[in-house]
Amino acid sequence: MATTARPAARLDDRLTERLVAVAGAEHVRTDPGGLLAFATDATPLHRGHPDAVVFPASTDEVAAVVRLAGEAGVPVIPRGSGTNLSAATIADRGGIVLALTRLDTLLEVDPANLVAVCQPGVRIVGLAEAAAEHGLLYPPDPGSQATSTLGGNVATCAGGLKGLKYGVTRDYVLGVEAVLGTGEVIRSGGKLVKDVAGYDLRRLLCGSEGTLGVLTELTLRLVPRPPASGTGVASFDGLDAAARAVTRTLRAGVLPVTLEFLDQVCVRTVEAFARIGLDTDAGAMLIFGQDGEPEAVERDMGRMARACEEEGASHVRVAEDDAEAGRILEARRAALPSLSRLERLTILEDATVPRDRLPEMVGRVQEIARRHDLRVGTFGHAGDGNLHPTAVLDPDDEDAVRRAHEAFGEIFAAAIELGGTITGEHGVGLTKLPFLERQLGGEHVALVRRIKHAFDPRGILNPGKLGS
Ligand SMILES: Cc1cc2nc3c(=O)[nH]c(=O)nc-3n(C[C@H](O)[C@H](O)[C@H](O)COP(=O)(O)OP(=O)(O)OC[C@H]3O[C@@H](n4cnc5c(N)ncnc54)[C@H](O)[C@@H]3O)c2cc1C
Repeated sequence: MATTARPAARLDDRLTERLVAVAGAEHVRTDPGGLLAFATDATPLHRGHPDAVVFPASTDEVAAVVRLAGEAGVPVIPRGSGTNLSAATIADRGGIVLALTRLDTLLEVDPANLVAVCQPGVRIVGLAEAAAEHGLLYPPDPGSQATSTLGGNVATCAGGLKGLKYGVTRDYVLGVEAVLGTGEVIRSGGKLVKDVAGYDLRRLLCGSEGTLGVLTELTLRLVPRPPASGTGVASFDGLDAAARAVTRTLRAGVLPVTLEFLDQVCVRTVEAFARIGLDTDAGAMLIFGQDGEPEAVERDMGRMARACEEEGASHVRVAEDDAEAGRILEARRAALPSLSRLERLTILEDATVPRDRLPEMVGRVQEIARRHDLRVGTFGHAGDGNLHPTAVLDPDDEDAVRRAHEAFGEIFAAAIELGGTITGEHGVGLTKLPFLERQLGGEHVALVRRIKHAFDPRGILNPGKLGS
């Protein structure tokens, strides 16, 4: 079997000089202060100091840095905004963090072909605003859309609130340019809707967490912007009834743009901090929404409200205007920040189960949290079966941290047992490695390593992440 070397060589002065010759002295940081900012990402409790941070300005510079690192056997960790929640940009073996934020040009919005072409450091908001000027929409909308980069979104195959109707990032990646671990540059796909010439490498690169190639250009699909949208909210005794309302909605022929849930812990916490008038007696809350032509939106909002009432919702409300819709969506957006204010450490996790197992899964999460004496609130994408159990605790309480790790191990095991996955959108990184083989099986993991070897024979690209 092809094995990939595990590089851990450190940077020396000669390599630093060569990096400076490629990117310019002002774009190579080796000072302790400069490195400290890149020792962490958004994942709590993970830290690893790189030896250098390089900010390339072109594909050629990326390729040159990768070639130099390859010759020296030094790891290269591609990085966008560092908002990932799986320790995917932690330099746990040292090496060079390749910060792609200077590659931030939106090269083209092409309304005739319904695509945008951009460099990887462009943020979603930038693309969304440019697309809106042409009456177009880029649907993937992770909660981090104001800060995360499109390169990072593609490399993690980010999801968001609109996944049920519009799909996730991979459904919008038509073409990529990438620098492989050898320094070679490949292009896969482009502005074409149909292209079956060869293996679909752009799909393979999507979600590859920087382990197969550095994405240097992206061609992304856009869709016509829906002229109208609607938002509503329903309170239920518990998640079982909310889940039945989801099934009833889908059976009624409605494919909602939004179907988000909050459990009781989240409803009460959000209300305590945000004071937006939520029903704190509710056992669960469902936020539903639709977009499209005005008549279709009105019809679907009515159907969804009825589905909730028929499943025993104690309170159902459809927003009368944008301001009210904004307040309802705020409840979902406020879930994480509100939970975070309860304690100094917030561990936001991610698992997915088949949609009809969601209530059972949330019940398992609550039971596990009780048994480990932890405060855990769960919210997520009811339409996708994707849930985010979120534990809040004191980081100085070592026993609580240990209990949280044990609890999340049990939560991931429960997701697998219910036919689900250890991550629906945040990725594997370093944090999910202990569970990867249990989910994929030994042969699958071995194949992943052989694929890695083909793209990156020296094993320098984000080594170890995603089981690579
Ligand atoms: C508040 C908050 C809300 C979030 N909400 C969501 C959500 O709703 N849905 C969701 O899916 N995620 C969410 N996330 C997680 C995170 O924002 C996403 O994973 C995002 O896609 C990461 O983008 P980034 O630019 O920050 O990438 P980084 O964190 O910098 O990198 C992520 C991964 O991509 C690789 N990478 C980055 N750029 C490139 C490149 N150009 N070429 C190759 N590899 C690259 C890195 O090596 C790493 O493996 C959230 C995070 C936070 C903090």
